[in-house]
Amino acid sequence: RKIVIAIDGFSACGKSSTAKEVANQLGYNYIDSGAMYRAVTLYFHEHYITSDNPKEVSKALENIDISFNFNERMAFSETYLNGLNVEEEIRKMYISNQVSKISAIPEVRKDMVNQQRKLGKKKGVVMDGRDIGSNVFPNAELKVFMKADLTVRAERRQKELLEKDQLVPLPEIEENLLARDKMDSERKENPLIIPEDAYILDTSELTFPEQVEFVLQLATE
Ligand code: C5P
Repeated sequence: RKIVIAIDGFSACGKSSTAKEVANQLGYNYIDSGAMYRAVTLYFHEHYITSDNPKEVSKALENIDISFNFNERMAFSETYLNGLNVEEEIRKMYISNQVSKISAIPEVRKDMVNQQRKLGKKKGVVMDGRDIGSNVFPNAELKVFMKADLTVRAERRQKELLEKDQLVPLPEIEENLLARDKMDSERKENPLIIPEDAYILDTSELTFPEQVEFVLQLATE
């Protein structure tokens, strides 16, 4: 029996890497909902679209096509914006600094949530984000909410950025993570909340294989 697994949590807790490996081991599809908001943010940035003009926002959304390219064993998942591979670009700090503002625009959320629900129609899917268990798939068979200490999260994120040749000071990363958590929790539409029926996974002191095992155990129970 294939199920829907919703993985939510604060920024940089290891949601994507965990979700990807769980999908890999179960032979499921993996959908990175945060990448969709990042791709929209990149488009808005490139086209000088601001959040305060609903008409302009809706028109821009009509011109945005987001898709994913997976390799067979889910070792990678790449994000495409209007046919262009934007995987690297959307992980940069200037996008991280704008994405929570863009993702709070009601028209943007409505559009992305619709697309996410369509992508999840075919069962056997792991989706990670902020409102997956609470809003996109309230009936998901398994919901996991991830958290970790701020320093642990910032250090992990710094290492990831370094691997892509971007040296960002820890305080700058911490500030970004805190600002996003705050905006994501306080926005009106589908805020970041811990679903009542979610299993809490604190990764502060866990290794990556332990994190993955936690979710796999629950998924195969
Ligand atoms: O997961 P990631 O950190 O890449 O997500 C980037 C941003 O996209 C989040 O900080 C949040 O503002 C937004 N997001 C969201 N809802 C989701 C996933 C991401 O609002 N389901």
